[in-house]
Amino acid sequence: MKAFDAIVLGVGTMGAATCWRLAERGMRVLGLERFDIPHSMGAHHGHSRMFRLAYSEHPDYVPLLRRSLMLWEGLNERSTLRPFVRTGAFYAGLPDSETVRGSLAAARMHGLAHRAMTSAEIQAEYPQFTLPNGYEGVFEPSAGYIVPEHAVAAMTTEALGRGATIHAREQALSWSSTRDGVSVTTEQGEYHASRLVVCCGAWTGRIVSELGVMLRVTRQILGWVRPKQPDRFELGRFPCWAIEDSDQSVFYGFPIQPSHPGLKLARHFPGPATDPESLDRNGATIADEESFRPGLRRFLPQGDGPTLAMAICMYTMSPDSHFIVDAHPAHPNVSIACGFSGHGFKFAPVVGEIMADLVEHGRTDLPAGFLGLGRFRSTCQ
Ligand SMILES: Cc1cc2nc3c(=O)[nH]c(=O)nc-3n(C[C@H](O)[C@H](O)[C@H](O)COP(=O)(O)OP(=O)(O)OC[C@H]3O[C@@H](n4cnc5c(N)ncnc54)[C@H](O)[C@@H]3O)c2cc1C
Repeated sequence: MKAFDAIVLGVGTMGAATCWRLAERGMRVLGLERFDIPHSMGAHHGHSRMFRLAYSEHPDYVPLLRRSLMLWEGLNERSTLRPFVRTGAFYAGLPDSETVRGSLAAARMHGLAHRAMTSAEIQAEYPQFTLPNGYEGVFEPSAGYIVPEHAVAAMTTEALGRGATIHAREQALSWSSTRDGVSVTTEQGEYHASRLVVCCGAWTGRIVSELGVMLRVTRQILGWVRPKQPDRFELGRFPCWAIEDSDQSVFYGFPIQPSHPGLKLARHFPGPATDPESLDRNGATIADEESFRPGLRRFLPQGDGPTLAMAICMYTMSPDSHFIVDAHPAHPNVSIACGFSGHGFKFAPVVGEIMADLVEHGRTDLPAGFLGLGRFRSTCQ
């Protein structure tokens, strides 16, 4: 029987990154994925994920984002898939909205290249947009998007190229941990390793029951529409964007990519709770268009054309919308990366690196302490 240094459950976004960063260190790694690599049943499909450094959610994320960007750029140099595309992005809303206030605070605190813009300046530069009175914005030239399917494929290729063993279509049914290591059972067999890393996204609650934290899985809609003048929205002429509405939800979108004729946008706001086992991934209806259509009507009327495509995806929400990246509370040889709450993709390489540190050293020097499970315990006391 082959013994591994680490078994990674789930070779989606964070699992592919973890396999890559572990294999890069010469560790013997087994990645187990229940579907294909990549696939459209979880959280990594839909052609684009935004990358931002001026992080409105919390400035503590910025050092992790800097490391992540360095790793994305390295992956771009190594892989012909070139998953990261720099476009620049602007973020707009009322001056005291989290989007504007938070992006500016993070940019200023960490000395990030940025330009504060009035709504008139944004509309002069990007006349495709209509912004309500009083809105302001921030432009970030380093921002862009990642093609998630290409990123998962490229990270998996890197892992395989460095000797990782990856099994797709093999679901982990259970695991156990002892002082000597971990065992994982699948329908095909049983595997042993020194350490286990759980990166099961929306299915985390099914495979790890003693986290002590509620993870809520939500149904999210992505939309692609065809503007009357599509050339005005093409890559190279149009940036990534995020605009906060008065109800604090954020509409965001991307330029038209060469791989799809549609202008993509979505609303960042947790949708209705769902179950990853029973969710109908093909079940987007006309009513679902209302999740993104108001963003077109309100902020991007020139883009408000017929729908070309819709997709259903899942967020896995932690109680405070911040990630959970830590050792298992009861099993120090098991680490968990979950609860990415709809904004985790851009962090994949650095999360993979943190997981590799936990496997190799049982700790990390990367500044990720704020993402530990301890924060939930202290709020309960
Ligand atoms: C609509 C939408 C838009 C988003 N937009 C952005 C964005 O613009 N920018 C951004 O940074 N982030 C964004 N995100 C968030 C980002 O995509 C997620 O945070 C990230 O993909 C989560 O990665 P994950 O590894 O946790 O989940 P996944 O990528 O889904 O991976 C989990 C994997 O585990 C596998 N698995 C589960 N159980 C088992 C088992 N028992 N055995 C084997 N395998 C198993 C699954 O099949 C899956 O492949 C968005 C998410 C959605 C849904």
